[in-house]
Amino acid sequence: MVEFCADLGLGRLYGTAWSYNRYGANRLRGIFQVPFHAPTHPYHGQVMHMDVSPIPLDGGKAPDAKHVVGMGWSCQKQIRFEDCVQFSETERDYFGMPKMHIEYEVTPSDQHDMAEAAKEQARAGAALGTPVFSDEPLLVPPGTSLHYQGSVRMGATNDGYCVCDSHSRVWGFNNLYVGGNGVIPTATACNPTLTSVALAVHACREIEESF
Ligand SMILES: Cc1cc2nc3c(=O)[nH]c(=O)nc-3n(C[C@H](O)[C@H](O)[C@H](O)COP(=O)(O)OP(=O)(O)OC[C@H]3O[C@@H](n4cnc5c(N)ncnc54)[C@H](O)[C@@H]3O)c2cc1C
Repeated sequence: MVEFCADLGLGRLYGTAWSYNRYGANRLRGIFQVPFHAPTHPYHGQVMHMDVSPIPLDGGKAPDAKHVVGMGWSCQKQIRFEDCVQFSETERDYFGMPKMHIEYEVTPSDQHDMAEAAKEQARAGAALGTPVFSDEPLLVPPGTSLHYQGSVRMGATNDGYCVCDSHSRVWGFNNLYVGGNGVIPTATACNPTLTSVALAVHACREIEESF
């Protein structure tokens, strides 16, 4: 797959990003990554080999193709203090827990970034070949990536804008730690789980030393 992309021009198109791609030489991976590299490429690009397309091809008119190449370009969401998760004091969800409400707004700056990412994706697609369907790149609805971040974010000081310190320990508590994507303090364009795991390992080392 990596060879396939390189032969078709992605390596040349993203000369700089390509040299940063530490997975570039691994031919077993089904994903070729075009890494985030600001300011020249402030997006996370993934070119993925998939057995079946997750999106109906040509609006469902085309038969299911075996072995399709999917391309996804992700942007860095502009951080807004108002974006948050709120828990209801009165309503319950189907587990009987306080009902969750997500405040989230796509800003004009986000709109601009998404439009630029779509152009970049189209450029990369043109280097690879012909799209299966000719529509513009699809913009998936907010939340589709399941990469919710920053709901219990870490910070350098207890300034009221963060929940925990850089070791994931909740401010004001000695024995309460948080983990997961929520602690990531900033917006990332790429998939967050490895970052969350690294932060959790960092926290565990501190716990091991402290108790
Ligand atoms: C199909 C799919 C593909 C994905 N692919 C990728 C990928 O390639 N790369 C990537 O980085 N990310 C990927 N993700 C996203 C990834 O799953 C999340 O980033 C990651 O799981 C987030 O970890 P977390 O610990 O923050 O939350 P979660 O993994 O959701 O963990 C939260 C845990 O808390 C538990 N919990 C919830 N409520 C309670 C409660 N009241 N009491 C006790 N326990 C509770 C839940 O059961 C769950 O086990 C994918 C997600 C999906 C669904």
